[in-house]
Amino acid sequence: MLFSTQRTRVIHEGSRFSRLEKVRALAAGWPAALAALRVCPGGAADGLNCGRCEKCLRTRLELLAAGIDETAAFGRSLVSVELWREAVPMPIAETALHHEELLPALRERGYDELCRAIEAGIALYRKARVGGQDRPEAGLVN
Ligand SMILES: [Zn+2]
Repeated sequence: MLFSTQRTRVIHEGSRFSRLEKVRALAAGWPAALAALRVCPGGAADGLNCGRCEKCLRTRLELLAAGIDETAAFGRSLVSVELWREAVPMPIAETALHHEELLPALRERGYDELCRAIEAGIALYRKARVGGQDRPEAGLVN
């Protein structure tokens, strides 16, 4: 309802589901949607996902958590620990919750080192929030 006007009603279908639940639903039964999935806020020049920004990486890991190892939209779902640390040293605001949601499924699939990198970022975010900074700058991150 956030974008509704007096003449136009916008319905946010599925808002009760988390991002991971939505990705799981696509993975379970909508391969065409998986192939056409576009999430990149920067929008690569060719209109595809860059595959390296926080949102692209998070989506790749959501796919991995859903049991999808590769898609036409992103290529390999697995993200290296080094790339994750470089691109997402610390999540901000609600992305920390999205990252946390990934952990059980990724751990179940055996990606323990990646889980530790994700948890380290979440811990930095929580520590920064306790310090009263909602969007702490790079000074907290080495
Ligand atoms: Zn991107």
